This record gives sequence, C-alpha cells and structure tokens, in this order.
Amino acid sequence: MNPAGQRRVAVVGSGVAGLTAAWIASRTAHVTLYEADARLGGHADTHRVTTADGELAIDTGFIVHNRRTYPTLLRLFAELDVATQPSEMSLSVSDAGTGVEYAGALGVRGLFARPSSLASRDHWRMLLEIPRFHRRARALLASSGPSSEPDAIGSVPDDGSAAAGDRTLREFLAEGGFSAGFVRHFMEPLVAAVWSCDPASSLDYPARYLFTFLEHHGMLGVFGSPEWRTVTGGSATYVAAVAAGLDDVRLEAKVTSIRELADGVEVTDGSGATTTFDAVVVATHPAQALAMLESPTALQREVLGALPYSTNSALLHTDTSLLPSAPNARASWNFHRPATEPAKAQTQAGRLRSVGSDPSARGADRRVTKPGAPEGVTVTYDLTRLQRLPTDTHYLVTLGGEGLVDPATVIDRMEYEHPLYTPESVAAARRLPQVNTPRVAFAGAYHGWGFHEDGARSGLAAATHLGLPWPRPTHVAPRPGRFETTIRHTRRTPYTRTFEHSSTFWLVDLDDLPDHGTLARFEARDHLGSPDRSLRDNVEAFLADNGVSLGERGGRILMAAHPRSLGHCFNPISVFWCFDDAGAQAGVVVEVHNTYGDRHAYLVHPDEQGRARTAKAMYVSPFHGVDGTYDVAVPVPTDRLHVAVTLRGHSQPGAEGAAAPFSASLTGTRTDVPVRRTLGAALRGSVLIRAHGTWLWARRLPVRPRPRHRQEGVR
Ligand SMILES: Cc1cc2nc3c(=O)[nH]c(=O)nc-3n(C[C@H](O)[C@H](O)[C@H](O)COP(=O)(O)OP(=O)(O)OC[C@H]3O[C@@H](n4cnc5c(N)ncnc54)[C@H](O)[C@@H]3O)c2cc1C
Repeated sequence: MNPAGQRRVAVVGSGVAGLTAAWIASRTAHVTLYEADARLGGHADTHRVTTADGELAIDTGFIVHNRRTYPTLLRLFAELDVATQPSEMSLSVSDAGTGVEYAGALGVRGLFARPSSLASRDHWRMLLEIPRFHRRARALLASSGPSSEPDAIGSVPDDGSAAAGDRTLREFLAEGGFSAGFVRHFMEPLVAAVWSCDPASSLDYPARYLFTFLEHHGMLGVFGSPEWRTVTGGSATYVAAVAAGLDDVRLEAKVTSIRELADGVEVTDGSGATTTFDAVVVATHPAQALAMLESPTALQREVLGALPYSTNSALLHTDTSLLPSAPNARASWNFHRPATEPAKAQTQAGRLRSVGSDPSARGADRRVTKPGAPEGVTVTYDLTRLQRLPTDTHYLVTLGGEGLVDPATVIDRMEYEHPLYTPESVAAARRLPQVNTPRVAFAGAYHGWGFHEDGARSGLAAATHLGLPWPRPTHVAPRPGRFETTIRHTRRTPYTRTFEHSSTFWLVDLDDLPDHGTLARFEARDHLGSPDRSLRDNVEAFLADNGVSLGERGGRILMAAHPRSLGHCFNPISVFWCFDDAGAQAGVVVEVHNTYGDRHAYLVHPDEQGRARTAKAMYVSPFHGVDGTYDVAVPVPTDRLHVAVTLRGHSQPGAEGAAAPFSASLTGTRTDVPVRRTLGAALRGSVLIRAHGTWLWARRLPVRPRPRHRQEGVR
C-alpha cells in the first residue's frame, strides 16, 4: 500500500496487454509500468516520418481492428476518447513460381487481375473451392456445437479445439480433397498473411481453432466481414493516452527478476533497482515472462515454456516492386511467394499438381530472391491504403523482405515476434489461467488468438484476477449512431426453435433527431404518448407519471429504434436511456409494440450490468399469455448495442409447470453504412416476424387468447 492507502501494482511490458492492465489498475491502485524498450507500445508501433506531404504517423505493427470482435479494446478506446476511422481491407496473392496474381475484396477486377486467369481452369477451380471450404469449415464447427465466442476472458476459447488429436489444417484440407492450387494460392496465403507466419507452419494450425477465429471475424463466408478500422493518427495515440494516466512509467527498464515474498512481490530491473509491490502483471511474451521468474512453479515452467513464438523482420519502405505487378491486384495486404519457393511449397502442400501458371509473368517478376534473402514468403502491408494516409506515396511494411526491398527506400527496420499455434501450444494455452498466483498474473495476446483484442482481454483478465476492478463510468451518455444488428428469438418450449435476422437500428438523441425525410424520420406517432406532442415531451411525461425527473435542464434521452421509413414504421421494441442533468442514468424506458397495434412502456432501473426485472403486462406473441416476468438487459450502448428480454415463469400449454424461458435479443455494432442502405429494415423485420409466427402456427403451437390492452398515458 502507498501512503494514500492504494495498492501498489507493477505492470511489466507496455504492449496492449500491459497497457490495458495498467489502465484498469490505475482506476484504484498506484501503478508502475516497466518497459524494456525506449518507447511504449510493444507491437503498437507508430513511426513518425517526415515527408514532402508533411509528417505522417505510420503504424508498422498493430494496424486494424473492428467494432464487432474487439469489445475490450473499444472500451479502452472509448474511455480514452481515442478516435478511429474506416480502413480498406483487401488481400492479394502473387506467386512468382506459378505466375498467379489476384486480389480478394476488390471485386471481379481483383479476382481476374491478370487477363490470363480468365482462361485458367485452375484459377476458376480455386475460386469455386472457396465457398466449399467455407461450408466444410462451418460444418466442422457446427459438428461440435456453436462456434465458441471468446467470452472466457483472457483464455483460449474452450471449444474443444485443443483436444488431443484435433485435426490440423493440412489434414482437414486433405480430407476435403482440396486442390493443390487452392492450398497454395488461397489457404496458405490467408493464414500466413493473417498470422504473419511461414506458409509451411500455417498448415499445422489446428483446424477447429483456426476456423473459430475465421468464423468469429466473418471470414468463413464471402459476405459478412466486419468493417475494419484504424486508430486516427496512429496507434501511438492510445498508447500515449494510457501512459498519461499512469503514476510511474519506467522506460528502458528491463525487468530481470520477479520474486514472490510472503507479503509482496519484489521486482528488479536491469539497473539493479528493486521495488516491492502488492501485485504484479507480467505482460511480456511467455518465454520472457518465464525467464524473469525467480522460482517458477513446475506448471509455470511447463505451460509458459510450451508457447513458441517466431521472429519476423519488418521493413518500413517505399519500394513498390514488392506489390503485385498487375495494378488491379494491388491490395492493402499483399502476400508474395518468391520464384525460388515452389519446390518447398509443393512438398508442404503435399499434393500439389499443376497449378495455374503464366510463364510470361514469371519471367517478368522482378522480386527474385537476392543473396541473403529468406527462402520464405513476404507479406507487404500498404499503410497508405490501410490508414488512408494523405499522400500519393505508398508507405509499405514488408515482413520477410530483407534482401528483396531496395535498401535505398528503407525508412526503418523492426523485429516482431508472433505466437505460433500448433495443437500442442493450443493445448498448453488452455492451462494459462492456472499459472497465475494470488499476487502475480500473466497477460499477453498469446492468451488468445494473438491479436490486439486478445492482448486487451488478457490484460483485463489479469487485472480481474488480482482483484482490480474496471468500473463502467456511470456518467457517459452514449453517442448517437447506427448499428448493424442481429435480432434473435429463441424458444425452448414445446420445442427448440431459433429465429434470427439482421437489421439496422438507430440510436438517436431526442433533442437532435435525424431527419432524412421519407427515407428515415422519427415521429411521435410511432411511440408512446400523444402524437401531438414531441417524442421528448412524451417520454418526459411518462417518466414524471412514474416519479422520475431528469432535472431542470431536462437531462438527455437517447432512443434505440427503427425510424419511419418509406411510410412504414414498426418497432417491436424501442429503448429510451434517460440521463439526468448530472449525467447519471435516471431510468430506462422499454417500449414494446405487438403486431396488433398495442403498445406498453416499462420503466426499469437497471443495475451496473444494465440488468433489470419487471412483470410482463402486455400480450406480445400469440403463443404466450400476459403472465410471467421479463429479465431485461439494457446496458448503456457503447460501440455495441445490446438489448435482451427473457420471459420467465410463464405458463404454456404443453409445458410441464412453468415453460422454459423464451428470449429475444438485439445485438450489434456501430456502422458507417449510408442511410439508404438501412431502408426498409423495419418493414423487413415485421414481415419476417409475421412469417415466423405463421410457421409456428402451422406447426400447431397453441395460440393464447389476446386480452384488450390499454396503458394510461402510453395508449
Ligand atoms: C506487423 C504486425 C502487424 C499486426 N497487425 C495487427 C492488426 O492489424 N490487428 C491486430 O489485432 N493485431 C495485429 N498484430 C498483433 C498484435 O501485435 C498483438 O496482438 C499485440 O499487439 C501483442 O501485444 P502484447 O501486449 O501481447 O505484446 P507486445 O506488444 O509484444 O508487448 C510486450 C512488451 O513487453 C516488453 N518486454 C519484454 N520483456 C520485458 C522485460 N523483461 N521487462 C520489461 N518489458 C519487457 C516488450 O518490449 C514489449 O513492449 C500485429 C502484429 C505485428 C507484428
């Protein structure tokens, strides 16, 4: 404890894992951050480059994230007020050994960037095999239940993927009879580019583990990929914002020893200085962590010693000869296999026969492996595209580019280490939560899939393990915006049935309602209260009827709902988050509409997690009465909108006693899609709900009589 009565916490390593842990710890404790390097951030590495176009902040390590699968990182960004912007994600493959060049996510022109590929049977075959691969991969995941969401914080998903004997990607592809061209020109480049690994080791990845990641990121389908984003001004922006909130930041302070005592933990750095802390988060790579433990336990030795990393050299440069020669194939991520590599790759793929080739292109390839160059592949990120840098020069980062990149164009050289995933390492990683002690917790992206969100989640898990809370600020009103959502109804009685569809929801400020005319507009007649008053007046009147005041200035009210669009409006549920003048949440109004034109508004006062319970008061579905209670989840929206209602304790014909819970949820992330792409969402939803009801009715699900409904002040 320090004199102020706070716990003293050391965090070793300032990558995203250490920064997240340090930020959380700093809410309640005195934090000392140790970093061996002369700069903070680890793989969050922004280079400031002076150019003719002004100074550019170029990210050479961590580049992209998205709003769907990076919730912890986004929560950190939200608290730090870090701005992000859309990126452009596309992947090209250029194979000097076979002459194949194409790009994904850039349309038909990218897929047939070389005219010769239009006449190539092998190229067509590979393209046709992609949806087959997606189907088989999804089937593999489905065969062991739903793909696991990585919600076990900081741990490798326990989806059975690490079970002994789990198939490798190589075995999966062989069983599926995928062609050598598919393996060489699609599969290996995808895995090697995403994980920055050698294509040879990419085939050793445990298939289920890999597919869980791909599925989670919308990559097991031609559509459904999330929108990728970068940090505006480079990732150093968030690193600096975390550091500014810490008490004691020590650069060039490599920790050499961590010794656990009966009442604390002694940390010694390279200068020989020793400091004692109440708790320590070790957020380095596992081998580094193990090396600094004075007396590691047998389990720590076993687990931390079984998580291999590979080292990649990375060059920041402007040599565009590393990009595909066909202009239409140039993408944000560019995988290149040099001409010297095919023999090796053929052995790896095991069953490579003749693959699409273009001899003229082969001759034209300038990227022959130079003396001293690595035999493996190169991946080149085009940061000008990814970060939308305001310049015509292509600033590139190439992994494995030594000997290939024109030295005159090199701006900087870096070395990065990435976790390697094998069935053994995945099995070891599942035991990571067990290596923590009451005072020392471990974190790092290696606790998950190796990405920034994994690092952030592991930092949160380490802090949680050490009893360091991350309270949600209660005084943050959400930002208005639009959300791409999935609406899901799950019924378990008398049989299990899930109904799911995607939609777009709006979060709007009742004092500043967006108005896109007939395309999208929010009107009082579509919600509770009198159609002659404003929406805000109606909600305020309802709150007042229920004894809630937002204060003299009227506070702030945000509503999640569909707009009236093209003359139609239907909102099965609209939610109003109401904040008083001080910014504190004064209550949440959950307004429910049924398809018979009735509406009912429920006022709830959710707990910190956004959960509340209320008695059901209106007939909604013909298959339920008005009995039972609703468990409502309405957390304040962030970059994620989540609303869930579970009906419990209700009776249903055909069910013994009380029926199993029926749940409906709406979950989504912010989207930048233009208004015109959101049109008709409400109409589509109401058609689908009716179609689903008809489906249930046709299967003789008993219909319950509908009582008349009227709620004073609502309708
Ligand atoms: C080129 C590249 C591109 C990437 N792109 C993306 C991307 O676009 N999106 C994404 O999600 N992920 C990306 N990643 C993955 C991302 O880098 C990792 O997810 C994450 O940043 C790793 O964080 P970490 O905290 O586990 O480790 P690191 O960031 O490696 O941090 C570990 C820190 O510990 C310090 N350290 C080590 N030993 C000691 C010691 N003894 N004492 C004190 N300090 C020590 C190190 O100097 C380092 O700063 C990319 C990685 C690379 C290399």
